[in-house]
This record gives sequence, structure tokens and C-alpha cells, in this order.
Amino acid sequence: MAEFSATSTSTATGIVVALQANYLEVELHAPPDGIPGRLLCTRRTRLSHRGAAVHVGDQVSIEAIDPVQARAVVADVAPRDSWLTRPPVANVSLVVVVLAVDQPSFDPDQASRFLLTAERTGLDVQVVLSKRDLLPPDQLEQLCERLRRWGYEPIALSSETGEGVEALQQRLRGTALAVLCGPSGVGKSSVLNRLLPHLSLRVGAVSGRLQRGRHTTRHVELFALGDTSKVADTPGFNRPDLPDDPRELGVLFPELRQQLDPWPCRFRDCLHRGEPGCGVSTTWERYSLYASGLEELVALSRQGRGG
Ligand code: GDP
Ligand code: ZN
Repeated sequence: MAEFSATSTSTATGIVVALQANYLEVELHAPPDGIPGRLLCTRRTRLSHRGAAVHVGDQVSIEAIDPVQARAVVADVAPRDSWLTRPPVANVSLVVVVLAVDQPSFDPDQASRFLLTAERTGLDVQVVLSKRDLLPPDQLEQLCERLRRWGYEPIALSSETGEGVEALQQRLRGTALAVLCGPSGVGKSSVLNRLLPHLSLRVGAVSGRLQRGRHTTRHVELFALGDTSKVADTPGFNRPDLPDDPRELGVLFPELRQQLDPWPCRFRDCLHRGEPGCGVSTTWERYSLYASGLEELVALSRQGRGG
């Protein structure tokens, strides 16, 4: 993470935790004496002139602090480690993909579309199997085992009983900034309410979206989980999205990546479709999904080239 050099009594650094109309809500990393931990900030005009949009998750330096009004001005934005568009959040480090074990029943194709979209961010991906109270233990273990073969170590939890929630909290404690995503109805809002109980007072799930009475124009807000972690209160992409380039599909499957580590396929630009001598086998569960996705992308890229 980038650091800012200038520090005096009237400057500080922090993270943008929410946008409200033209204001940025900034939480200070180490509030100087007598300065509130959260400030409502405007942007220096030269920032707008440079076209540097400031977003939730951005690390910023602030100046012109007014401790009485809890106001300040954002003077600069640190370069981003990552950028997600749905929801618009900078510096996310972990994408949590929530999939229900039942209601709606586990759908491997839909699950994979979300996982591939999550993998496309290039960030770490954590699978959460929600509603574990709806499945007998042996079937739950089979499903966990299946996800492990897909290259994931799932956390199974129930927002109903609370079982497994601690494991997710622990995982998130080692994460600077996480977002949740997954199909609608899998229990994302319920998980967020479990993680951020103080939210539930202001949150009512309406068709899976968090609605606020007062701040209807707010889109994303970051909430603290302990001292070092934050989670976005708004679920991310629920429309899956695939790469344009067929060669980029393979890296989105962790179980394929694992086959190429530490010995990459010896064919350059190989699409790993069972060619003799290819370093990737065809005997893994999601191979057919990979192969059909590949065909689709190859066909599309041919069309795109007008042939
Ligand atoms: P979202 O659309 O992903 O945000 O899902 P919600 O959190 O709105 O939950 C969808 C439905 O699943 C609601 O009726 C919840 O009560 C139910 N639900 C959520 N979590 C659990 C759980 O752990 N167990 C059970 N049995 N139902 C759950
Ligand atoms: Zn190959």
C-alpha cells in the first residue's frame, strides 16, 4: 500500500468508507489528538481536474481538517491495488463467493459462472457454502469435498444457527477489504447481518438488496470487522461475466492452474483440450465446462474477427 510523506498536525491519511452525494466519508488510520475518527470531506479541485475519481476503498491523504465540524479536504489519492466495478470499490483484497447448499439447490454451472467471474478479478477467492442447516452432515461433507476438487477450501455456515460464522470471521480478519457476491437468494444479506450485527437495525432485506431508510443515494459502505479488516455492505456482481480471449479461460479454474504448477504445459499458447502431450488432464469434473466455455469463446472471437 502506498504511503504519504507529508504529515503535520493538519494532515492525515485514511480510507474512504462511503460516498454521500458530493462528499466522501473518510475514516482516519490514526486520528491526531482532538480530531474525530471520521470526517466528511470534499475533494481538492485539482483532483477533479486530473479526472481522478475518488471511490470507496481508496486510501487518501487529507488536509484542512476542521475538528469541530468534522470536515476536511481530500488532497490526494494513493494508487490502487485493485479496482472492482460491481460494486465500485477500490483496493478489495478478497472476493467471497456465497453459494447455498440448498434453497436454491446447488447448481454447479451457476456456481462456476460466479466463481469464474470472481477469478477474473485476479483477487483471492473464498467460497462460502451458506444455509448448511438445510443439508445432512454427510451430504454437506460431500459438497465440501467437491468444492475442494474444484480447488477451493469452502467455509460452510448457517446464518440461521450461526454455525460456521466464526470460521468466516476468522478468514476475514486476515483480509483488509472483502466483498461478497453470489446468486440472489443464497443468503448474502443474512451473512452480512451476522458479520455486522449493528447493521441489522438499519437494514431490511428487500428482494436481496440492502435498503436504507435515510440514505437512499448511498451505494457502498465499508464496515469494520475488528481493527484491521473491512467488508463492503453491498453484494457484488450477480451477473456473471466471461473473458473475451479463450486463452484467459484456463487461469480462472484453480484445479487447472494447480495442474500447471510447477510444470507448465510444454506447448506454447496451448488451450489444454486433451492434445497428446498437453500438461493438463481431461479427467476433472469441470473439464467439460471448461471445454464448452472454450468452444464458445473461440467461436465468438472468430466472429469478432469477421471470419
Ligand atoms: P441474498 O439474496 O443472497 O441476500 O439472500 P438473503 O439473505 O436475502 O436470504 C434469502 C432467503 O434465505 C431468506 O428467506 C433468508 O431467511 C433465507 N436464509 C438466509 N440464510 C439462511 C440460512 O443460513 N439457513 C436457512 N435455512 N435460510 C437462510
Ligand atoms: Zn496444454
